[in-house]
Amino acid sequence: MNVNSLIVNTSMADALDVIGDRWSLLVLRDVFLGVRRFEQLRKNTGASRATLTRRLESFVLNDILYKCLYSTTGKRFEYRLTEKGLGLFSASLLSWQWECLWVEHANNVLPKRLFHSSCNYELTPVAVCQHCKKNVEISDVEWPDLSQHLDLQFQEITAKNKQRRVRSSVRSGLEDLSLVHVSSLIGDRWSLLIIIASFLGVDRYDAFQKQLSIASNILTGRLNLLVEVGVLKRFSYQDNPPRNEYRLTEKGKSLFPLVMVMRQWAIDWVLKGNAAEVLTHKCCNQPLVVDVQCQCCKQKPWPRDVQFQHFDA
Ligand SMILES: [Zn+2]
Ligand SMILES: [Zn+2]
Repeated sequence: MNVNSLIVNTSMADALDVIGDRWSLLVLRDVFLGVRRFEQLRKNTGASRATLTRRLESFVLNDILYKCLYSTTGKRFEYRLTEKGLGLFSASLLSWQWECLWVEHANNVLPKRLFHSSCNYELTPVAVCQHCKKNVEISDVEWPDLSQHLDLQFQEITAKNKQRRVRSSVRSGLEDLSLVHVSSLIGDRWSLLIIIASFLGVDRYDAFQKQLSIASNILTGRLNLLVEVGVLKRFSYQDNPPRNEYRLTEKGKSLFPLVMVMRQWAIDWVLKGNAAEVLTHKCCNQPLVVDVQCQCCKQKPWPRDVQFQHFDA
């Protein structure tokens, strides 16, 4: 089993190229809320003109949004969601949920609640197995042995990594700070690889290095960061020489459904259903296909049925 091959095979890399960074998540959030025009998106997200232009171009190129003329006189366009873009709504809901659950000040900038008009209840989105409808949890998923084709896949992921700079999660006070944490974790390829390796049970420094073929300075930096943000916890298992283990905290484990939902989107929309590898859901012994549903009415949430509420608890 190799984590690099898993992430490349699942086309997580493609999903992340589209939605992995914070600006993309913010733009998508606003598009799901019904914002369609450039100036309004710029005002809401706080993105610079250049940044927003790049993100929108990338969304159009990747068939997430399409441009639609709304004024023939000024040749003005607005941005609308494609079917593929609409498919990202679930991942967007789960990112929002994770950030609200785990980041203390998130409530200042994110809506506190979601309301589901299909059932008239507060919306709690849950990732479930399409077959048996049980919630998707780490311990219930069996991973395949993917030890072949390592060289090629490793080259691919390294090449993609070089194009991506690590983002600082500290921003100036003027910007919209929502989704900073979740995007700094899933938007950074190495952090995500380490998190996935942890899902697979890797916990020692040497094992991470072997699984990920990662330079030691990068590995040390990312492990420290993940401990700092509370996704991993460090345990000493040997004093002389000192050696540590890194285990997922509850906060780290709760990223699992989000990662699985992003994987499912990549399989459905990028790989057109042809996942190179199959994960098995141990509860029903079926290949894992992930759905997102409202915990209350079991329906799949769509933007038109979901209202964001900013009231206090
Ligand atoms: Zn199942
Ligand atoms: Zn509902």
